[in-house]
Amino acid sequence: MKEDYYDILGIGKNASAAEIKKAYRKKAIKYHPDKNPGDSKAEDMFKKAAEAYEVLSDPNKKARYDQYGHAAFEGGGGFGGGGMNMDDIFSQFGDIFGGAFGGGGFSGFSGFGGGGQRRVKGSNLRIRVKLTLEEIANGVEKTVKVKRKVQAEGVTYKTCDTCGGRGQVTKITNTILGRMQTAATCSACGGSGQIIDKRPSDADAHGLKISEETVSINIPAGVEDGMQLKVPNKGNEAPGDGIPGDLLVAIETEEHETLKREGDNLHYDLYISYSDAVLGTSKEIDTVGGKVRIKLEAGIQSGKILRLRGKGISSLNGYGSGDLLVHVNVWTPQELNKEQREFFERMQEHENFVPNPARSDKSFFEKVKDMFS
Ligand SMILES: [Zn+2]
Repeated sequence: MKEDYYDILGIGKNASAAEIKKAYRKKAIKYHPDKNPGDSKAEDMFKKAAEAYEVLSDPNKKARYDQYGHAAFEGGGGFGGGGMNMDDIFSQFGDIFGGAFGGGGFSGFSGFGGGGQRRVKGSNLRIRVKLTLEEIANGVEKTVKVKRKVQAEGVTYKTCDTCGGRGQVTKITNTILGRMQTAATCSACGGSGQIIDKRPSDADAHGLKISEETVSINIPAGVEDGMQLKVPNKGNEAPGDGIPGDLLVAIETEEHETLKREGDNLHYDLYISYSDAVLGTSKEIDTVGGKVRIKLEAGIQSGKILRLRGKGISSLNGYGSGDLLVHVNVWTPQELNKEQREFFERMQEHENFVPNPARSDKSFFEKVKDMFS
């Protein structure tokens, strides 16, 4: 059976976000592969802790885990049996350690090659994208300008002299147990096995320079506020033959003037006049695909919910669309002139004006029940 994420990090179920982060830092430092070279048990613990943190640091995933346990991530989308790979783990580190594991030469980059040479990875870039409800409803392609570090034109790299391109150096230390030989990351190249050879005048110490680029981001329908999308390899480039970081896109949503979102469904409050309710009418309402006209039967009751199927948000997992629920509210006049007052006073006792819910359609509570079934 899979170990409990809270147990792995050694924390209680009520741990705060700060406590979760702190606990993970401790485990990551303790089991870090650089500190435990060749220790597969430590590596295993290191991966487990990273996986636990990946879930518990994300409010959505945490909520699902708290409710369903590991079953929340089984079958697609989860971690499967494979766990996280080392690249994922190190890319997570930027947030936790602020580059503390970057090493010497190319500090600020991270990477892991499993013992020998590291493949350095450029740092991730983060941007926010604000979306309207219409854009979310059907998905949208957004073009954004990002300033990313790229390898300057003409830059060349050569094999690191210090480690001979291995990325590691062997250190001999004298201890009370005798001479110990340990492998350590080469501080001259930061483990990448490469150092800068020719540096163009416009490049920084790593041979990189800032470039403004246009990136197009494909945003699927159904995303929610606070979600994060990843555009692989569109973050900062790494020196040498390292791989670029990712562009992380945080989704922000703009509030719609008239439509309220609830999951994949949308809600619209429609106000009609007393006379329209009595006589019947047609009204234009907003949808994410533009305005549509709907018909309201004569004698429609306040509180009635009209369901426009498929006029909601396309579901993020690709299974169909939500509906648009139109809530009918009959506006009762608050001021009457003499003529109107007399009319309603005459109607007050008339049998057609006496409420008779049994004869009309379903009650408010039945309608609400229907909506959720
Ligand atoms: Zn080196």
